[in-house]
Amino acid sequence: MVHKAEYIWIDGTEPTARLRSKTKILDDKMLGAAPDDLPIWGFDGSSTNQAPGDNSDCVLRPVAVFPDPIRGGDDILVMCEVLLVDMTPHPTNTRAACAEISEKYADMEPWFGIEQEYTFFKDGHPLGFPIGGFPAPQGFYYCGVGADEVFGRDVVEAHLEACIEAGIKVSGINAEVMPGQWEFQVGPGGPDEISDHLWVARWLLYRIAEEFGVTATVDPKPVKGDWNGAGCHTNFSTKAMREGYDPIIAACEALGAKAEEHVRAYGAGIEDRLTGAHETAPWTEFSYGVSNRGASIRIPWQVEVDKKGYIEDRRPNANMDPYVVTKMITDTVCSAAS
Ligand code: ADP
Ligand code: MN
Ligand code: MN
Ligand code: MN
Repeated sequence: MVHKAEYIWIDGTEPTARLRSKTKILDDKMLGAAPDDLPIWGFDGSSTNQAPGDNSDCVLRPVAVFPDPIRGGDDILVMCEVLLVDMTPHPTNTRAACAEISEKYADMEPWFGIEQEYTFFKDGHPLGFPIGGFPAPQGFYYCGVGADEVFGRDVVEAHLEACIEAGIKVSGINAEVMPGQWEFQVGPGGPDEISDHLWVARWLLYRIAEEFGVTATVDPKPVKGDWNGAGCHTNFSTKAMREGYDPIIAACEALGAKAEEHVRAYGAGIEDRLTGAHETAPWTEFSYGVSNRGASIRIPWQVEVDKKGYIEDRRPNANMDPYVVTKMITDTVCSAAS
């Protein structure tokens, strides 16, 4: 007998990469195989902005495997990284560098928890927006209840269920401040591990939204004007931060010393979202503070009380690449601490 494997990868679309996938039929002898034992595969890089037409072959190498909650049975989702035919990382492959840094600082046990905000669209406007107009201003939608405040809950519930069935380390969901805007959280887990989980959770979101005839987008500013943008708050700790407060402050200082470099890698269009309004700090200034949702980095109040825990980098955009962001934070904080 055979089963289906959905090979998922990240393409070369600029400025924000997209997800692609295709199905491989595997012999049941492959059941339970680790990523390294699954077959490598190929695709046409000239159709994904990853190769010229006259030299179009790119390689897919499996890096993580999950049970497929959509097809069920023995079918699987296979997260892949993209390689050149000489088996070195493709220029669009951001995972390889993330895995390297993850390995380098493994003894410091870096953990990440990421809050993915996103927005549903239908017929060209956010789900819940009246056609050709605007709903009541934001104020009641965040964590709301009722058909006048919350739009798309059936999709969100189906996505959450699928993530749990797939073994994604999902840690929660909530309705956000704009109609049709939602959030799910993954974590905690290691840099490359949680990034794999986030990319597969995004794939499941788009895939499940298909069934409901809506689209989901990680556009960081889906509606101009007086509406919050969409972010990907990135929560971070090392073993030392989980055990004491000085390393928490040291991490904030280390991130402040490289603020500009970080903001530039936190997702296309970040200037439009980090304006200083709508619970953001301006992208040109770095700040950190306890409970402060207007700071670049927030130290949760409980962390100050306990004198240990984690910090929240509030700057990353919803469209950020978690391999880039988790690699950068790990490198900056851990290199300063070692
Ligand atoms: P917020 O109050 O900012 O909305 P959420 O509850 O949405 O916070 O998200 C908190 C995130 O922090 C979760 O993804 C969770 O996994 C993560 N988290 C919790 N503890 C840690 C830790 N010690 N290190 C890193 N991330 C953590
Ligand atoms: Mn949150
Ligand atoms: Mn949020
Ligand atoms: Mn947050």
